[in-house]
Amino acid sequence: MQQLKRLTIGAVLSIFSVQILAAQVLITKEQKQNATQLMQTALKSDLGMEIVTSLTTEIGPRLGGSEAEKRARNWGLKLGERLGFDTTKIEEFTMPFWDRGHLHISLTSPYQQDLYGTALGGAAPTKETINANVVYFRDIHALTEVKDNSLTGKVAFIDGDMMVKSQTGAGYGQANQRRRIGWQHAQRAGASALVVRSVGSDSHRFPHSGMMSSDGDKWADIPVIAISNPDADHLRRLHNLGKPLAISLHSESKWKGEVSSGNVILDLIGSEKPEEIVLIGGHLDSWDLGTGAVDDGAGIAITTAAAALIAKLPKRPKRTIRVVMFGAEEVGLLGAFAYAKQHEANLKNHVLATESDFGAQTIWQLVSNVNPKATLLIDEIAKILSPLGIVRGGSDVAGGGPDIIPMAAKGVPTIRLNQNGRDYFDLHHTPDDTLDKINPNELAQNIAAYAASIYLIADSEVELKP
Ligand SMILES: [Zn+2]
Repeated sequence: MQQLKRLTIGAVLSIFSVQILAAQVLITKEQKQNATQLMQTALKSDLGMEIVTSLTTEIGPRLGGSEAEKRARNWGLKLGERLGFDTTKIEEFTMPFWDRGHLHISLTSPYQQDLYGTALGGAAPTKETINANVVYFRDIHALTEVKDNSLTGKVAFIDGDMMVKSQTGAGYGQANQRRRIGWQHAQRAGASALVVRSVGSDSHRFPHSGMMSSDGDKWADIPVIAISNPDADHLRRLHNLGKPLAISLHSESKWKGEVSSGNVILDLIGSEKPEEIVLIGGHLDSWDLGTGAVDDGAGIAITTAAAALIAKLPKRPKRTIRVVMFGAEEVGLLGAFAYAKQHEANLKNHVLATESDFGAQTIWQLVSNVNPKATLLIDEIAKILSPLGIVRGGSDVAGGGPDIIPMAAKGVPTIRLNQNGRDYFDLHHTPDDTLDKINPNELAQNIAAYAASIYLIADSEVELKP
């Protein structure tokens, strides 16, 4: 009886404590009102479009390490000052600079026809114009099986399949293998050059650029060129007809030594816990074929505008909100690694990090990688974002965006507001990545989602570390 009584009291107590937990307020009424107000303001604001228009028009293409990227850093600094950030600075780092230079590539057999191509990042120049027969490989796997020195005096062409469009961009990593490591096998086999099908989901005659992977600290000794999907289709059909393929190729792309780049850091200093940092951002550099509107002028605009709207609230959130405009992302996450190194001792104070680097189509999902209690907070934030058409996704999704990888690897918690990526790989790294591709209403929805969620996390006292 005594035991039963104790059990009953225990049960009552445990029900009571569950109720206390459930009743604990993770987001106050006032915070919810502020977040809702931020979303409404963002949906009516032109600030994001103004930012990405200015960046892509006044600065233009911004290859990592270039003079243009330096102009972009100064642009970012001035923008931060104008928008009312409390502190603004540039943190420099050094990096090797690869320049694209001029390219000409044409089919010479079975007949003369220009191809639309572009050098891949890290590729070597042609010593003199290459005129050579082409050996066709159906995909990267076929090339990986090639014997050493079996392609001497020839050009290898890696075909593959066009990327299938999807909301999440699934398939990119796999398709990207030919761009990343194809050169290592072509070079091992003694080929004079490598040509690959572009990694993209469009059927326009735009080549998709992108960085190759180094082999340890070694880069390609041969030219490596991506051609457009329709050009790759054309080569496949000619190959299937049994026609001998030959090309003429001249490329000037090359490494040009050490230069400086940098990250732009804009802070809204927290009112109660200024040492705790909620980091958001995008990358300031772009590939040089287009003006980097979608990749990643949009991410710069979304995160800077979101923080600028929060800056207009009567009171700063409790924690510091930091916008980082990362440098030299496309050429190997160089700004991200520099940031993680320069802030190594202080990463423990980074309570959360997230990057927008997947275009500017509508955000549809919020995922996170935080501790169980903070997961409840993110659940509550997702409910507040639901009028924007955003649903809650996984609570154990690592990532946060490319430039967040080095920080996340050191234990910084992450969330990600996932954009619909259906059209992203039509434009990705092509000359077609231009301002007209950004829909102002969709961009505003992105800013609304960032402003509300980042405000709520920065004004919270919930610890997010796993
Ligand atoms: Zn990007």
